[in-house]
Amino acid sequence: MKRYDYLIVGSGLFGATFAYKAVHSGKSCLVIEKRPHTGGNVYCERIEGINVHKYGAHIFHTSNKEVWDFVNSLVPFNRYTNCPVANYHGELYNLPFNMNTFHRMWGVTTPEEAKAKIDEQRAEAVARMKEEGATEPRNLEEQGLCLVGKDIFEKLIKEYTEKQWGRPCSELPAFIIKRLPVRLVYDNNYFNDPYQGIPIGGYNKLIDALLQGADCRVETDFFNSEYRDWRSFADRLVYTGPLDAYFGFRYGKLDWRTVSFKTRILDMPNYQGNAVVNYTSHEKPFTRIIEHKHFEMFGQAVYDCPKTVVSEEYSTEYKEGMEPFYAVNDERNNLLAEKYRSLAEKEDGVLFGGRLAEYRYYDMAPVIEKVLNIWK
Ligand SMILES: Cc1cc2nc3c(=O)[nH]c(=O)nc-3n(C[C@H](O)[C@H](O)[C@H](O)COP(=O)(O)OP(=O)(O)OC[C@H]3O[C@@H](n4cnc5c(N)ncnc54)[C@H](O)[C@@H]3O)c2cc1C
Repeated sequence: MKRYDYLIVGSGLFGATFAYKAVHSGKSCLVIEKRPHTGGNVYCERIEGINVHKYGAHIFHTSNKEVWDFVNSLVPFNRYTNCPVANYHGELYNLPFNMNTFHRMWGVTTPEEAKAKIDEQRAEAVARMKEEGATEPRNLEEQGLCLVGKDIFEKLIKEYTEKQWGRPCSELPAFIIKRLPVRLVYDNNYFNDPYQGIPIGGYNKLIDALLQGADCRVETDFFNSEYRDWRSFADRLVYTGPLDAYFGFRYGKLDWRTVSFKTRILDMPNYQGNAVVNYTSHEKPFTRIIEHKHFEMFGQAVYDCPKTVVSEEYSTEYKEGMEPFYAVNDERNNLLAEKYRSLAEKEDGVLFGGRLAEYRYYDMAPVIEKVLNIWK
């Protein structure tokens, strides 16, 4: 039986990047993955010649040149720029909130006019709150109104947020939204980072490049396999699965939020003309529709591919057997995660890393950055 330097549980970006650095440092790795494929949440399924983001739309963006150069050394990235559109009862608005949004909302054309309109509506919200004797926003509804005013809040934030959380904004805590940046320029680029894009040929290419040189076994669950006794197979363990599962849920289970997807193949080349359209009213039960081809096909290429694949996204309560997507940032879960983290610190020869094992949300680039820093 081959003995490895590292047994890596999970082939997502954390595990795969770790394997890459280990292999390039002359170490041997075995990566085990419980799903039938590698890549974790960035995995894409190829349908009708289109890379479908099976676990939700993933757009790579970073300000870190080292991370950008690293991923581009493995696979070149395209020029995709995320410019989501919001659909409110058939009215279309550009996101993030910028001069295009304000022009559509109020017909204003200059930054001064837009700022005056927003300031006027924010002042109205603050005055209303004061009339009721409050000095600080008491819930997310008041917070949103004070930050951006009535029109933007009601058309673009309120009902979308209610769909995400399954509760009225008036019953959600104000801290969920700390800032709502408004841009007084005609710029629809969602991210402020200087680097963004999608790997040419899809994320699977990136994952394959990261895992080259490591042994991989899919459909292998750490807890239901001989690898649970990992010291018989490797000197060290890199664990990227759920934190509470590693400790047998001894203090109780951590909560998650998740998203479910309804994916359809449509017999047309171009359904919505954009990768991401948010549905910001209750009229539609889903929060977004993703049209996957627009991440990688531009111009005539959209029409050279006769079909399209779209996914409706539904915010869903997490239940056993679903994919855990987002850590829940409330008091119960923060305290519970801390208790598990204290146990993790005492675990000899084990590195806990990634979004599941650290119980925190990470974008892709920070996950890679973290692994690169570990190897420094
Ligand atoms: C819906 C959604 C959209 C996102 N969009 C973006 C975006 O646009 N841009 C961005 O930068 N980031 C985005 N992210 C974040 C991105 O997905 C993460 O940064 C990245 O996936 C983290 O990689 P990871 O390795 O930590 O986790 P994962 O990708 O989840 O990998 C963990 C792996 O461990 C495996 N595993 C778990 N338990 C076991 C076990 N017992 N045995 C064996 N294997 C196990 C899992 O199957 C999984 O493959 C998004 C996340 C979600 C949920």
